Amino acid sequence: LRMVSAAPVGNEPVSDEELRPHALDGFIGQPLLKAQLQLFLDAARKRDVPPDHILLAGPPGLGKTTLAMIVANELGVPIRVTSGPAIQHAGDLASILSSLDSGEVLFIDEIHRLPRAAEELLYIAMEDFRVDVMVGKGPGATSIPLTLPRFTVIGATTREGMLPSPLRARFGFTAHLDFYPHEELEKLIERSAGVLGVRLENGSAYEMAVRSRGTPRIANRLLRRVRDWAIVHDLDAVNPDDVKDALSLYQIDAEGLDRLDIAVLNAVVRQFNGGPVGLNTLSAMVGEESETVETVCEPYLVREGFLVRTPKGRVATEKAWSHLGLVPKEDVSK
Ligand code: ADP
Repeated sequence: LRMVSAAPVGNEPVSDEELRPHALDGFIGQPLLKAQLQLFLDAARKRDVPPDHILLAGPPGLGKTTLAMIVANELGVPIRVTSGPAIQHAGDLASILSSLDSGEVLFIDEIHRLPRAAEELLYIAMEDFRVDVMVGKGPGATSIPLTLPRFTVIGATTREGMLPSPLRARFGFTAHLDFYPHEELEKLIERSAGVLGVRLENGSAYEMAVRSRGTPRIANRLLRRVRDWAIVHDLDAVNPDDVKDALSLYQIDAEGLDRLDIAVLNAVVRQFNGGPVGLNTLSAMVGEESETVETVCEPYLVREGFLVRTPKGRVATEKAWSHLGLVPKEDVSK
């Protein structure tokens, strides 16, 4: 059971929805980003035009989809949702684009996964509000330019670096979402507890926050497991010890690290004696794609000081050794 994973879990299809804030006010944390976005939206409203295209970059579960929906809500316009992998041919995208209403928001999740031809079609559409529709087949085929109403693309990506620069250049505003500090996750958990009707005593939200890997989606998931615990044990209110008991049942790591994080640390520390080890070797050791290790796992481990990236590869810190209950190897270079 992979509790501390930022990916949505199949058996909780509506859960992300019920806890999604609908206005910028309800979006917890990320104060700078919120202020920037607020200004950006206010300006568009004052000028009475759809805002420029927006790119949201950052690891999974940090609120990219939520922000896209908030933007559409704040503008009072409909939102169309699709994703890079869902668009297999440029034609799929052309038909979505040509059916957009004026001012509509088109949310494209995992935009770095769009096929090449779709990417090219998209940046022309974003720049000139036009698509070229192919009519006919073979040598007789002609392309007919179709003018589109103005709309706003909101792209989300876990890998900004994989976006080709012509596409990246079409976004008027790029927001980088970062892992949330504990205090912000605490607030988020309190808000979600209110929505779910769970009564938390002082300090309970904090115990969940520190185990949430800096990630709102995980915080909400831990809260649901704590709610299960409270229901089964007939608790009126949940205290910090209840939280610890509930979460230790699910083997949640005290620092919020998930299975993959631990596998990576174990590989660096035990197989490579602390490193340095290259990304590809490391990914092969833990049986994950290097993209996942690099974009989902490493940013958090680096930020929390478990891992450092050096030109020679990844190196485990003292904190990593002691988290695994080991004593760091002697530094032979000294
Ligand atoms: P992403 O698209 O980046 O993978 P989501 O927007 O789907 O992440 O967020 C995952 C869950 O976390 C949703 O239930 C969402 O409501 C919640 N969430 C994310 N960020 C925030 C936030 N800043 N404030 C409140 N809830 C949030």
